[in-house]
Amino acid sequence: MSKAFATLAALDAATICHTYARYPVALAHGQGARLYDLDGNEYIDLLSGIAVTSLGHAHPELVRVLSEQAARLAHTSNLLYHAEGPALAEKLLATCYAGKVFFCNSGAEANEGAIKLARRFMRTVRGREACEIVTLEGSFHGRTLATLAATGQDKIKEGFGPLPQGFVTAPFGDIEALAAAVSGRTAAVMVEMIQGEIGVRPLSEEYVAAIEELRRKHGFLLVVDEVQTGLCRTGKFWAHQHWGLTPDIFTAAKPLANGLPMGAVLMSEEAAQGFAPGSHGTTFGGGPLLCAVAAKVLEIMTRDHLAQRAAETGLYFAGLLEELRQEMPDKVAEVRGLGLMLGVELNVPGKPVWEELLRSGFIVNLVGERILRLLPPLIIEREDLELFSLALGKILRKI
Ligand SMILES: *Cc1c(COP(=O)(O)O)cnc(C)c1O
Repeated sequence: MSKAFATLAALDAATICHTYARYPVALAHGQGARLYDLDGNEYIDLLSGIAVTSLGHAHPELVRVLSEQAARLAHTSNLLYHAEGPALAEKLLATCYAGKVFFCNSGAEANEGAIKLARRFMRTVRGREACEIVTLEGSFHGRTLATLAATGQDKIKEGFGPLPQGFVTAPFGDIEALAAAVSGRTAAVMVEMIQGEIGVRPLSEEYVAAIEELRRKHGFLLVVDEVQTGLCRTGKFWAHQHWGLTPDIFTAAKPLANGLPMGAVLMSEEAAQGFAPGSHGTTFGGGPLLCAVAAKVLEIMTRDHLAQRAAETGLYFAGLLEELRQEMPDKVAEVRGLGLMLGVELNVPGKPVWEELLRSGFIVNLVGERILRLLPPLIIEREDLELFSLALGKILRKI
């Protein structure tokens, strides 16, 4: 460990409130799918700042639009019009069935907005006292109090009670339990199509079909949290499109502005009636600077066919990882996921594998004890993925 790193780590520990166990790397700059630390060591990025920098680091077109817009107009508040907002909204709405969008600042805030919208829609449009939000065990919806209440993982709720009321957690993948959890009091069922934080866990076809049947029967809204899965990550623009769903509300955030904080609540025209002027808001959300950058992100994703690229590159990558599983079934339990959102579940403790990967120059995320979560930038080259699977193979053979 270098002196520069040690000095920085000590200052960080002395000044920043400890909510993260950080990786022992201090990044200085990046380019595309490559990152460089303070000592000039190079890394291949298979994390993308947790599914955020989908277009890679220091993308020249984003740098240009960011500096041009900053020099023109960065912030207005939502009390005034600006052209960048609707321009982005048009691009975003062209990728899906949603009719309206509300911009905000993060994934948690987008989900919080979705929960508020579902409840208010039920009361003001449907005239029903349906306020319950049903979510799934293993889910992750954010760190605010309401999104924490929605999150189906007890360990991250510890110490924060009392949490907001009206949230029901259903066991993952259990159709009968879901049928028992929903009723006329349900405002919404809120799901991730592929649970990310728990280790890349997709919903099954049958389970999704059951949600749809229950939705028709009880009239609740379907909310899909696409904060991690959205915007081409899984090989379609939105993960729910793999299942042919039309959610009433879905949320986006992580890659929307490729590293600037931005979230969005997308909704059907009907669901949009749940909000009215004065009912919800944000100071920063949807400002011209963020909207200009996000519009460029969407333009590039569409122009460069990044959904298709993620699907193809993801298949190729999953194939490489599957070869490792076939070679070492005692060490690799399963490779799962869609597009460039992949999980490798190991049969051996993950920490030493993850540490050795980091030492070899690969930044990946370890979730739980044994799952490597792989979220490379969508622009990553196949050669980088080959280098990663070679390194992983070498490490696993030695363990
Ligand atoms: C990251 C994430 C969130 C929270 O987003 P923040 O921007 O950290 O608030 C919510 N839902 C899912 C599925 C996520 O992956």
